[in-house]
Amino acid sequence: MKKTTVRAQVVGGGLAGVEAALRLAQGGVCVDLFEMRPGKQTPAHKTDLLGELVCSNSLKGTDPATAHGLLKKELSLLGSAALKAAEITRVPAGKALAVDRLSFARALTEAVQAHDLIEMHRQEIVEIDPGIPTIIATGPLTSEALAEHLAKMTGSSRLFFYDAISPIIDADSIETEHAFFGSRWDPESTDYLNCPLDEDLYYAFITELLQAQQVIPHGFEEARYFEACLPVEIMASRGRDSLRYGPMRPIGLEDPRTGRRPFAVLQLRRENLRGDAYNMVGFQTKLTYAEQKRIFGLIPALAHARFERFGSIHRNTFLDSPRVLNKDLSLKGYPLIFLAGQVTGVEGYMESAATGILAGLSLLAKTSGTGFSPPRADTAIGALIHYITDENTKDFQPMNVNFGIMESPDVPKKLRNQARVDREACSFQEWMKSLATGL
Ligand SMILES: Cc1cc2nc3c(=O)[nH]c(=O)nc-3n(C[C@H](O)[C@H](O)[C@H](O)COP(=O)(O)OP(=O)(O)OC[C@H]3O[C@@H](n4cnc5c(N)ncnc54)[C@H](O)[C@@H]3O)c2cc1C
Repeated sequence: MKKTTVRAQVVGGGLAGVEAALRLAQGGVCVDLFEMRPGKQTPAHKTDLLGELVCSNSLKGTDPATAHGLLKKELSLLGSAALKAAEITRVPAGKALAVDRLSFARALTEAVQAHDLIEMHRQEIVEIDPGIPTIIATGPLTSEALAEHLAKMTGSSRLFFYDAISPIIDADSIETEHAFFGSRWDPESTDYLNCPLDEDLYYAFITELLQAQQVIPHGFEEARYFEACLPVEIMASRGRDSLRYGPMRPIGLEDPRTGRRPFAVLQLRRENLRGDAYNMVGFQTKLTYAEQKRIFGLIPALAHARFERFGSIHRNTFLDSPRVLNKDLSLKGYPLIFLAGQVTGVEGYMESAATGILAGLSLLAKTSGTGFSPPRADTAIGALIHYITDENTKDFQPMNVNFGIMESPDVPKKLRNQARVDREACSFQEWMKSLATGL
């Protein structure tokens, strides 16, 4: 491809950075890609390869009737390099798309090296020049110096170093005959669904919680937690009643079926306006996924709960994106600086790849003077972008793609899945057409 005079830089050669660099180069922009490894390693990466997967080798499911499947379908339509690399390095893993991690990272590294508009620099970037078009994609383990600089650019309270995630449950799977609506002191409110526990059940629940298997922290993850977001199992270990004086306190709630205050209560809070997903309030946890399913399932309303997302606590550098990012992924107050990947508060390999492509497209639009709008929130990628840039979100926490964040059609429940898939297809196609015509 012929070199152009437009030059941009991408910081970070993970999944988001690779997608962003390739997208810019495909658009004719000369790219300086900065990756600090191997000179400076993160605590989780092991190689000098681009697009290294730091933990699981699974990129999750491909079934187009699921949110992960729809995301892959959209990535495929966008010509994602990560998805292409995954297809050629795939290993058998049932319905999941799993890869040989070394071959996968080698394929991405070679794709970047093969592009004559991309110049690789093995260098840590510690400051961003606001005058150079830049995509920052330094991931959950952004180097300390750059994190400090980002904190200065965005205001120090806008950068976080850990995520503490409570599980999210599909509303249809909650057994509402074992629950009642009402927020503390307001029985008419439908914002919270309360799952009561009697004394025997509460203590049985605590016993199981204390014996449950936990995820072993990575060596670099301190086993220190912020008091404001302790894992439930740590809270429980401080005293068998601590949860019922903490997130499970029943104060201000009366079970309409008994006319009495329950002994303890798990509160579920609407995750979205439609109320088709609920968040377990204050239930951030380090239990393994299997244990979360088993132990939270002891609560009658959750006996058959389907988890849209499990709880977790991780070392994770991410921005308070709803406050600092525009919808086109540029940083507020810095029109040439864009963010992509896990540092924006999306969670997951493919989610990070998707925002890399979007940031690339957005920067291309900026350099050519055309406008850029992300896809609508009824698509998988659009829902992610909407989630991370929605100013109404309080207490922002990272999110993977799931139906809970996707706008869904207003049709009866049994028709919803098909209608959602149909609508996503139309909406994404329309957006792709608008890209092609530069609208
Ligand atoms: C321990 C751990 C386990 C995880 N497990 C999973 C999992 O199993 N499944 C999953 O989907 N997601 C997992 N994640 C999340 C995962 O990191 C992301 O899904 C994905 O890798 C994010 O892609 P990214 O491109 O944003 O960041 P990364 O893939 O981390 O890439 C960022 C790159 O930026 C480089 N960099 C950092 N700072 C600088 C700097 N100042 N200058 C230049 N280069 C820099 C880094 O070396 C790195 O190569 C895990 C995260 C962690 C920390």
